[in-house]
Amino acid sequence: MLKLYNTLSRKKENFRPRKGKKVNLFVCGITPYDLAHIGHARTYVVFDMIAKYLREKDFDVFYLQNITDIDDKIIQRAKTKKIKPKKLASYFEKKYLKDMKGLKIDSVTKYARATDHIKEIINQVKKLSKKGFAYQIKDGIYYDISKFKDYGKLSRRTVLQAEDAVSRIDESKKKKNKGDFCLWKFSKKGEPKWPSSFGWGRPGWHIEDTAITEKYFGPKYDIHGGGRDLIFPHHEAEIAQMEAVSNKKPMVRYWLHSGFLAVKKQKMAKSLGNFITIKDFLKNHSPRILRFFILKNHYRSPIDYSEKVILQTKREIERIDGFLDKLQETGSRKQEINKKKRSAQSLVLRTQKEFEKAMDNDFNTPVALAALFHLIGRGSYLLDKDRLTPADARDILRILRKIDKVFNFIFWGKRVAPKIPDFIKKMVREREDARRRKDFKKADEMRRKIKQRGYWVEDTKGGPKIKKL
Ligand code: AMP
Repeated sequence: MLKLYNTLSRKKENFRPRKGKKVNLFVCGITPYDLAHIGHARTYVVFDMIAKYLREKDFDVFYLQNITDIDDKIIQRAKTKKIKPKKLASYFEKKYLKDMKGLKIDSVTKYARATDHIKEIINQVKKLSKKGFAYQIKDGIYYDISKFKDYGKLSRRTVLQAEDAVSRIDESKKKKNKGDFCLWKFSKKGEPKWPSSFGWGRPGWHIEDTAITEKYFGPKYDIHGGGRDLIFPHHEAEIAQMEAVSNKKPMVRYWLHSGFLAVKKQKMAKSLGNFITIKDFLKNHSPRILRFFILKNHYRSPIDYSEKVILQTKREIERIDGFLDKLQETGSRKQEINKKKRSAQSLVLRTQKEFEKAMDNDFNTPVALAALFHLIGRGSYLLDKDRLTPADARDILRILRKIDKVFNFIFWGKRVAPKIPDFIKKMVREREDARRRKDFKKADEMRRKIKQRGYWVEDTKGGPKIKKL
């Protein structure tokens, strides 16, 4: 049974969606005012893996992600660039979607822009006002957190502690409580604005998510995800907005939060200037490396980024590729009559079981990957001893493909076996002749010469294998 760690209960819980196999999953999307960095990539690779694993387990997942295409940061940046906020947001939204495609993050069912849901946002603000949870002051309509008795249940802060929290964007001195947040901001000169019965304005940060999820999922749904920085005030505010008007609890069954990607223990963030954009990362490395590097860590644990760990990851990817080449080569051979004994069945079964067990335990990808590397280690040994039949090799490839439906970094593009030049093949034949004559001095010299030319000869029971270095 799949278990998930629910931030709301601070416990691992059995996963039981609200309606049979149907899963409604919402993840907070980006604010497109600049290029996305690899910290963002962490969160979106994690939820891509989660959506894919749920689908592998036959859940019917509707994965919804919003795009905050109207926000103070967008307006600010557009002003400095002297362009319209809409144009800026649309430019960076395209860049973001391109980055996601590059990283094979293709599990999102629908991206929903805030500005396409203004009608739903206004309706929610109206409902909150009618029920007495909202009040109007000079610069906007605010949520009165003292009216919602469950405020703080996700982040485990009391209303008083929330009072102390510095709100990211809503600083009006006229607020009733310091922690109150803005639902509708009255328009200032030159800013984007929409008409509403309470005046021209634009949505506050938190309201777009509940307006969007209510439209597609209704007042209650299964999973809400995001980076852990969103627990407070963003997700706390969402609960307050939705549960106050719908009176239906809980708005979300399982709250999932991913850990930060940090550099020297400090969260990677635009504001700290310690970021690497996804675009820049991909100039130097394959996207597979980023996916693998992220999934090597448990999704809730912090990750410390360094070039050293990226290099290590690269080496592990090369090991995977070497294994795939050998498997494909063996798998494409004809079955030899005298080699019917299958050696890989129990290994494949064990890998499958361990992979599922780990993933069912709150998506424990590091343990699932340990099972994968055990398969690679044992499989390579059997290949070197020429103990795998072509059918064995194909079975291993099949389980790897299954695992890769979730991880998406094992198989990448079409793998073409490197072409070995004829002169290298000739040198390898000469070396074989020397070995047969027991002229090991000559054989070693040939191997050295072959290595100098960028190739490596490995002696296996099935004969010499040539590898490009
Ligand atoms: P933002 O556009 O800043 O609202 O961030 C979009 C998503 O990326 C949110 O879920 C954030 O929690 C997540 N995020 C931002 N920075 C990081 C980071 N350094 N590590 C992990 N997730 C992050």
